[in-house]
Amino acid sequence: MTNLFRKEIHTFIFYLIIGLVLGWLINQAVLGLLFGSLVFIARCLWQLQQLVKWLKHPEKEPPEAKGLWGEVFDSIYHYQRHQQQYQFHLKRILDRIQNSSQALRDGVVMIDAKGNLEWWNTAAETLLGLRSPGDLGYPITHLLREPVFVDYFESQHYQEALVLASPINEARSLEFQVTLFGKNERLLLVRDVTKMQRLEVMRQDFIANVSHELRTPLTVLSGYLEMFSDHAENLPAKWQRGLVLMRQQSLRMQQLVEDLLTLSSLETSSFQPAAEPILVANLLSSIRVDALALSKSHLAKNPQTADQHSILLEVDQQLGLYGSEKELRSAFSNLVFNAVKYTPIGTEIVLRWYQDANGAYLEVRDKGQGIDPACLPHLTERFYRIDKGRSSSTGGTGLGLAIVKHVLLRHQAKLEVTSKQDIGSCFTCCFPLSITSAKKLSADH
Ligand code: ADP
Repeated sequence: MTNLFRKEIHTFIFYLIIGLVLGWLINQAVLGLLFGSLVFIARCLWQLQQLVKWLKHPEKEPPEAKGLWGEVFDSIYHYQRHQQQYQFHLKRILDRIQNSSQALRDGVVMIDAKGNLEWWNTAAETLLGLRSPGDLGYPITHLLREPVFVDYFESQHYQEALVLASPINEARSLEFQVTLFGKNERLLLVRDVTKMQRLEVMRQDFIANVSHELRTPLTVLSGYLEMFSDHAENLPAKWQRGLVLMRQQSLRMQQLVEDLLTLSSLETSSFQPAAEPILVANLLSSIRVDALALSKSHLAKNPQTADQHSILLEVDQQLGLYGSEKELRSAFSNLVFNAVKYTPIGTEIVLRWYQDANGAYLEVRDKGQGIDPACLPHLTERFYRIDKGRSSSTGGTGLGLAIVKHVLLRHQAKLEVTSKQDIGSCFTCCFPLSITSAKKLSADH
């Protein structure tokens, strides 16, 4: 029991004694005790009323009081002062955050758990055309109605940013990035990426134009080199070696130009899937024939080797794919030809095409020497080659897997690579079930 509380009990006893004495004087001791208690209760009620009055106007000084009540008033007063200082501090931080967000060139929009606009900075007004305070409390999807944005916003998967034209100026490109925080609240960051997009388009155009311009001179060069090769026996012996090298390099350059053009068309052209599902089993059979021919040509260069690659097919004949046959042929061929190019002649390559509850998969499994795990994350980068010498000698450009990645992206699919040194590698294209067709397909398709 605290001293103050003990003091208050003493005061109560004092009131009782005064009441008792007064009651005793008029021969009514019990009435006197009751009177003493009532006066004490009245005093408490009065202090309580003072407290309520003060709490209604906390900016005023607390009422004068002694003892326990004085302590109560002082404690509340100090607590209030502390809270005021804390709130002031928080407000200053909030003001600073808001001021710095206002100064940002990127748009910042705060959205509550129901998807309604809560706060935004000036840049968001300029970029998105939001009006303050008119749009406050409105659902963001009523103001940014583009279906792609609505899908992105409602998906709750915000790992990737979304690039769209500005809702108030078609010529500007904006990058939208949503971050979840608190209880399903969202922070939308909007960045003007028009310049970057323009540079990207310029880069793509430049590569496409250069590749296109190089195509004709290279065709002429390799045509003549082929013609000279046909009559190589008429040339001096020391020129013959040079001719072979020139022919090899011109073919490599031609392949490089073709791959660059393929990549640039994958980046710039719109995706046009076939209306009917593609019969992957047929596609793989025809790629297998080409791959066997490639393996045979390797065998011709290494006559000491006993056998060419054996390429096995394990395919689901019924399973089709909605997509672009030309692009899928290019991606699958790249994987199968790589398996031929980078594994020893005579080894086995297995092509599997199957489906499970999560998707459909094309697997190209080889028994080569495998790939160093450190190289795996870089395989789909442009011009990445593990063994440059080996790749060049097999006619590799370092663009094959970049093409595969782009084709798969356009089919909502992804590439997974696993490899074990001296055991082999497995390249798997994972397709979502949404673009597969398991119905019976006609074989003449
Ligand atoms: P390239 O045109 O040089 O073949 P790719 O992009 O197709 O380029 O492949 C990149 C690199 O990945 C190749 O240079 C090669 O070193 C490696 N690679 C690809 N497929 C395989 C495989 N099946 N086994 C081992 N290495 C491979």
